[in-house]
Amino acid sequence: KQQLYRELRDRPSVSKDGIAVELMMNAGLAVDLPQLAEAGAAGIGLFRSELQFMVAATFPRAQEQEKLYREVIEAAGPKPVTFRTIDIGGDKVLPYFRGAEKEENPALGWRAIRLTLDRPGLLRTQFRALLKAAAGRELRVMLPMVTEIGEITKARGLIEREVRQLARFGYALPTSLKLGAMIEVPSLLFQLPELMRAVDFVSIGSNDLFQFMTATDRGNGLLAGRFDPLSVPFLRVLKSVLDAGRDAGKSVTLCGELASRPISAMALVGLGFRAISMSPAAIGPVKAMLADLPVGELEGLMIQLLKESAVDMDVPARLRAFADEF
Ligand code: PEP
Ligand code: MG
Repeated sequence: KQQLYRELRDRPSVSKDGIAVELMMNAGLAVDLPQLAEAGAAGIGLFRSELQFMVAATFPRAQEQEKLYREVIEAAGPKPVTFRTIDIGGDKVLPYFRGAEKEENPALGWRAIRLTLDRPGLLRTQFRALLKAAAGRELRVMLPMVTEIGEITKARGLIEREVRQLARFGYALPTSLKLGAMIEVPSLLFQLPELMRAVDFVSIGSNDLFQFMTATDRGNGLLAGRFDPLSVPFLRVLKSVLDAGRDAGKSVTLCGELASRPISAMALVGLGFRAISMSPAAIGPVKAMLADLPVGELEGLMIQLLKESAVDMDVPARLRAFADEF
């Protein structure tokens, strides 16, 4: 198998019936970058910028942030990179930064975009570092844990202000700026047309979206495996986001762990995803799975499954039965 993955490594990911699916990787530190070539990733679909903050002893300075972003962009070369603004708070605590009070429910607390909009200096410094590092290239930035559209509007205002400032001081700028939102909080699912108008792209954070949809702590071992993301209700949610993206002409990707298991990656491609981001080790297996898969027929199966009764349907079993035919 390792041999097969190596053979596939430098080839684009295409299904048996010729449909291209971009397999991107998740990363967060400079040590992850060699994986781009080793795993044969099409780009970095999620760069978890908070990791630099979590391994540091104090807030990384603007120059240190810019240096890391530059390294990432250089390592990626022509491949696209999507930087996520710092997703701190919740379970991602910084020892040198304490919130105002101890939180009863940190996962639902002062975190990610909520925290950085309240401390806009953090966000502005990060935006400036990203804009400088991506001079002469496209810059893709996405916001974690967005709950309402106003958060995107505010963040866009902040980054545009940094663009104007840098321009005024004569800095080279990115050739284009794409600002996206992660879909992790279910409130966004009920305002998809408005969301699509406010962003350039969306990426579904299936780890958190599933946690909040099912009210299930993602780190609680007692509940692990109790509810299945490959269940009809959750798949219907993913499909509704794809449909809204298509209607609005905005790209929809997914960057949670769901993309990392071949069986669930299969479900995602069958739903209509054409770009997904996963842990680097998953790229070989997912690429190999895809090469054998007639995606046109799989799409037919998924449409049928989503129409059937959601009660007691074993989606993984149906997918496996389908895969066994080929
Ligand atoms: C997610 O929630 O699915 C996600 C990709 O973000 P993280 O795992 O870093 O919370
Ligand atoms: Mg998340």
